[in-house]
Amino acid sequence: MNRKNATLAVLGGEPAILRPPPPYPSIGEREIAAVNDVLRSGCLSGFFGSWEDGFYGGPRIQEFEAAWSRKFLAKHTVSINSNTSGLIAAMGAVGVSPGDEIIVPATTMSATAMAPLVYGGIPVFADLEPETFCIDPQSLKGNLTDRTRAVIAVNLFGHPARLHELRALCDARGIYLVEDNAQAVLATENGRQCGTIGHIGVFSLNYHKHIHSGEGGMCTTDDDDLAERLRLIRNHAEAVVGPAGATDLTNMVGFNLRMTELSAAVGLAQLNEVDRHVGARRAVADGLTAGLGDLSGITVPAVRDGCTHAYYLWTARYDQARLGVPRSAFVEALCAEGVPWFEGYVQPLYMLPAFRKRMAIGREGFPFTLSSRQYGPGLCPVAERLYHEEIVWFECCAHDIDDSMLGQIVDAFRKVYDQRELLVS
Ligand SMILES: *Cc1c(COP(=O)(O)O)cnc(C)c1O
Repeated sequence: MNRKNATLAVLGGEPAILRPPPPYPSIGEREIAAVNDVLRSGCLSGFFGSWEDGFYGGPRIQEFEAAWSRKFLAKHTVSINSNTSGLIAAMGAVGVSPGDEIIVPATTMSATAMAPLVYGGIPVFADLEPETFCIDPQSLKGNLTDRTRAVIAVNLFGHPARLHELRALCDARGIYLVEDNAQAVLATENGRQCGTIGHIGVFSLNYHKHIHSGEGGMCTTDDDDLAERLRLIRNHAEAVVGPAGATDLTNMVGFNLRMTELSAAVGLAQLNEVDRHVGARRAVADGLTAGLGDLSGITVPAVRDGCTHAYYLWTARYDQARLGVPRSAFVEALCAEGVPWFEGYVQPLYMLPAFRKRMAIGREGFPFTLSSRQYGPGLCPVAERLYHEEIVWFECCAHDIDDSMLGQIVDAFRKVYDQRELLVS
């Protein structure tokens, strides 16, 4: 019996993939040696929360930040303990005040929409472009008001948002563009690195991202003033602004968002290999696109002209009307063949209880007490359709996949596709 006609695993047959791929091997001898060096030095963090030499961190922090700036052609890099912290610091640095509106895409990791709330900002949700899953400039424009302070664009799944267009739009209005670039390290638009096109870009070094230090993040900016404000918020601004001579005290109440020397040492080793790490994920994505691109009813990821994609996830669109099988049954059958596939990604963030119930900071519902914005179903129809009906994704960042495994994954998908009518009960 040829494999194409083999019984579907979900119907009791043998899975197409008998040995699932191992996790992507991101940590090697270089990282181990770098961590041991830090441990032997005895100094696991060089930061001091006061206006003295240690304010900017220890030797690995400074080396890592300088190397990051060189790699991404950014004037400044400010290391931070997570992308979430970076987004919070960015909101503080651009001067978000209670009641200001921050436009974010409806679909992204929740931290993007949470960060404004810390400063009393009101997240406003814009819809997505269905082809790239990134924020739709038309929907964004429809949400601009004179209270809009900033836009957070997310380069979702590894594809650039329309960053140059958004930057021009923000500059023309005198508002800020922050890039949440957690998923798109080394993606580019018109030859420029994602994360460096907005006023501030934020990268994640969380374990699940292309390169990581367990937890961590990096903020990039070409603006001297924003860079210094990010550094102050990272490290107890309130105790430092006096001796530092800061004149604008807006949001100069700091946190401890500092990265350790250990994380910086791991991050530096990862940065030195970032092309290889992203290249491995791109190869998986390109193989899936080549192997599945001819299947009608499955729309493989688009890459907009002038862009390169970093493929945090390989995200296709499923046309249930054309395929005649519920998406959930199809994905269940795919999973049964031996590697995990997923549907939907996250629900539009305005469906979270904090937004539906307008309850975030304190007992009275601050900051929603400053806004009449309501959140609920119907706000962003494209994001809802993608979530409920269309998105099917594969975690190309997570697995170690060689050519043979890639072939098996493509074959398993085609096996389910070819026999899908058997899935209709
Ligand atoms: C992972 C992720 C974050 C959060 O990053 P952390 O470093 O875990 O805080 C934020 N936004 C997006 C789009 C992400 O994918």
